[in-house]
Amino acid sequence: MEWNEILVPAWRGEANTDIAEIMRLSETEGVISFAGGFPGADMFRLPEVSEVGARILAENGAAALQYGPTAGFSALREYLADRMRARFGVAISPAEVTITSGALQGLDLICRVLLEPGDVVISEAPSYVGALQTIIAYGARVEEIPTDEEGMQVDLLAERLAALSTSARRPKFIYTVPTFQNPSGATLSSARRRLLVDLAAAYGVPLVEDSAYAELRFAGSEVPTLKSLDKSGAVLFLGTFSKILSPGLRLGWVVAPETFTAKLIAVKQTSDQCSSSLSQLLALECGRRGIIERQVKASCALLKERAAAMSAGLKRHFPAGTHWVEPQGGFFTWVTLPDAPGLDTARLLKQAVAEEKVAYVAGRSFYAHGQGANQLRLSFSYPSPADIEEGTKRLGRFFQQALAAGA
Ligand code: PMP
Repeated sequence: MEWNEILVPAWRGEANTDIAEIMRLSETEGVISFAGGFPGADMFRLPEVSEVGARILAENGAAALQYGPTAGFSALREYLADRMRARFGVAISPAEVTITSGALQGLDLICRVLLEPGDVVISEAPSYVGALQTIIAYGARVEEIPTDEEGMQVDLLAERLAALSTSARRPKFIYTVPTFQNPSGATLSSARRRLLVDLAAAYGVPLVEDSAYAELRFAGSEVPTLKSLDKSGAVLFLGTFSKILSPGLRLGWVVAPETFTAKLIAVKQTSDQCSSSLSQLLALECGRRGIIERQVKASCALLKERAAAMSAGLKRHFPAGTHWVEPQGGFFTWVTLPDAPGLDTARLLKQAVAEEKVAYVAGRSFYAHGQGANQLRLSFSYPSPADIEEGTKRLGRFFQQALAAGA
């Protein structure tokens, strides 16, 4: 069977396995992993969650084990509409909420509704590997806008939108992770947020706001969500329970205008029919009982410690001339090594795992067009501060040697 001949163009050739590789590395015995964007095992509130789980199965077990509505349980959509108001200053109705099997499915559904092969999507660079892979899988072309310590350089976006609006390549949407970005850790400034939302409205280009880490602030002060600034209905908001409760539940949500929500529900029917009923009931009850709020608060304290350990380790052990952004929240530090000919963090990764028993994600994974050879993402959310010190020591030594050897 000649499979390659019948595959759609986006899947011909080598499949991108970056995410699967991150998952694999994070499981490898004895390796200190800075690879996965995983909540620390000590962030889960297991005794409280298991009590809730047991109660749901005892009192509402038939619903928990049954299919549910495609849009998600009404009670959860109502809870999320309330939470969006309380937490993010966003006034929405439950009818604008679609429950998804993770934020990544939310993005996938948006892509299915909006993208045809050859379409243009704008994203900040670097950007979340899972989003890039999803967008590219639909045959779309990613146009990248550079970032700095304040996130996407929105003035450059304005220039790009102006240029694209006069061509036939009007972008289908803009994808951004504005708060504690994956991978850079950077947060878009308030001034840039306003400009970004205004640009989306002015050009009639939807703005997908991925808020995966937005609640996990451990330093600095709050910034408004793009959705809360949105007067034109251009912002599609992606939320997830993955970082505030559990990624294993595979549960997220999309907030979109009702007419667009109807399309998302229609495509979700043919994707998985509905998200896990058990997960939805569990998340709802954990929310109602304050377990999520307690987890967020405790996670922020742990993340603050781990980010400090990461920063100290980088200072102490990494080669002179290494640069990184100090995050104010979230899971990640983005590291730029001194640029040296031949240095390629993607090529060096296997060696780092084999020789030093430490894992990271190579910079290249976070660009659509192969940049990032001297960059890497380090996740500090999972390892203990002691492992972060040891892991940065091993990795610092490894890169010192690689640079000395002419990489
Ligand atoms: N968006 C971003 C920016 C992420 O980092 C992640 C998870 N790594 C996701 C979305 C996917 O989240 P979920 O588990 O809800 O699919």
